[in-house]
Amino acid sequence: MNKKRVALVTGSTSGIGLSIARRLAALGYDVAINSFEAAHDAAPALQTLTGTGADVRYFQSDLALTGGGYDLVGEVVAAYGQLDVLVNNAGIQKVAPIEDFPPQDWHRIIAVSLDSAFHTIRAALPGMTERGWGRIINIASAHGLRASPFKSAYVATKHAVIGLTKTVALETAEKGITVNAICPGYVWTPLVAAQVADQARAHGMSEEQVMREIFLAPQPTRQFVQPEEIAEMAAYLCGDLARSITGSAISIDGGWTAK
Ligand code: NAD
Repeated sequence: MNKKRVALVTGSTSGIGLSIARRLAALGYDVAINSFEAAHDAAPALQTLTGTGADVRYFQSDLALTGGGYDLVGEVVAAYGQLDVLVNNAGIQKVAPIEDFPPQDWHRIIAVSLDSAFHTIRAALPGMTERGWGRIINIASAHGLRASPFKSAYVATKHAVIGLTKTVALETAEKGITVNAICPGYVWTPLVAAQVADQARAHGMSEEQVMREIFLAPQPTRQFVQPEEIAEMAAYLCGDLARSITGSAISIDGGWTAK
């Protein structure tokens, strides 16, 4: 890299997003991190990214709000002068049978993962097109390729994220821009730890039992994926040697979708 490239990772104060931000900062990208949280709540995450030599800054934006993603990209470009790498990572979960699925949760899940990606991509593409280089990575899920019961909004959203990825990849194929989805199986992050605790309570099981019998049941390796594995793939996709990988949905799921 001659000039520093600038990356934005949405939903990056925790879990996979924080891990991707850390890897990109270590590789020399300047990195914008984001969450809906107030700056003082995001400070510990920001702190873990200092000392890399990268210019890492926090941008508060609630991506559940219409147009939040569009404005976020505008703020990042205003701060750094450009945006070269966009990682749409923010995501939330709700588990309930469809008859009981609260409509507000349905809308919020779609807003945070799908609508926000639409808005960030729209805002980021003109600059990437002008410079003839860009990387867009959408964090989908094994649930973008396979369904599980009680996760209607999440499964529908992640399938749609893959559809969005493929479409934008075709629209940008001759512009030096690649657009890919990473589809993790279960990754050990706060999002999953909270679900394990919830399900243990709901089923009267131990957390160990829930992990083994529910979470790791579809994952043939019987091991959680680690956030660093997702971060390494994101870093690879950002490299110049990944220029021909576009429109892909890349599984990192311990064999889940091989079945
Ligand atoms: P996490 O809960 O650890 O982190 C989610 C991040 O998103 C946090 O920084 C949170 O502040 C942010 N966020 C939540 N709502 C937001 C909003 N309205 N606006 C802005 N930021 C918001 O989650 P994670 O497990 O690291 O998941 C990250 C992504 O990976 C999600 O898209 C998730 O669907 C996907 N994923 C996770 C797993 C897994 O097993 N953990 C598996 C497949 C896919």
